[in-house]
Amino acid sequence: MNERAIIEYFGQLCDEHGVRRPREIKINNRLTRALGRVQYENSFRGIIPLTVHFSKLMLTSDVAFAEDIIKHEFAHYFLLCQGVDDGHGRLFKSFCAKIGCKNDGTVAKFGAEADVPQQFKYEVFCTNCAKRVATYSRRCATLDRVEMGLAKSGCCKADCRVEQNW
Ligand SMILES: [Zn+2]
Ligand SMILES: [Zn+2]
Repeated sequence: MNERAIIEYFGQLCDEHGVRRPREIKINNRLTRALGRVQYENSFRGIIPLTVHFSKLMLTSDVAFAEDIIKHEFAHYFLLCQGVDDGHGRLFKSFCAKIGCKNDGTVAKFGAEADVPQQFKYEVFCTNCAKRVATYSRRCATLDRVEMGLAKSGCCKADCRVEQNW
C-alpha cells in the first residue's frame, strides 16, 4: 500500500465518520517500534489529535493487513477527536468492532518488527481465538516470555502459542 493510498484510506474513514482529517498523515521512517501512531496534545484546551504517522513497513505489508492497521489508528484518532484517550480499552475495542477492525489490541506495537510476510521466523497465536498476535524475525526476550507462558494475548488475555517457520 503506497503512502498516497494510506492517506486516502485514512481520510475516507474521517469523512465517513464525520471527523475532520488530521493536519498530517504520513509515513515516518523513524517509526520503528509501532506500525502506527497518533500524536495528540492534552492541555487546558482538552485533547486535540495532531498527526497520524505510519511505519514504512506498511508500504510492503499486504493490503488487507495495512488497512486493518489504518482502521486501528483511526479508532484511536476518532476517540481522541471526542476527547477520549481510552488506550486499548473497552471503548476502543467496541469502536474497532463497529468499523470492522480486527487489530483491537496492542498488536500494532507488539508485532511491529515483522509484518512483512515471509520475513518472520516466529509467529505467535492466541490460544483462545487463534488470532496471530505477533511475529518475530529472530529470538528475543519477549518470545522467551511467551514460551514460558508469561505473556498473555492482548485480545483475550489468554496463553499464546508460538509457531516457528523455517
Ligand atoms: Zn493502538
Ligand atoms: Zn484472542
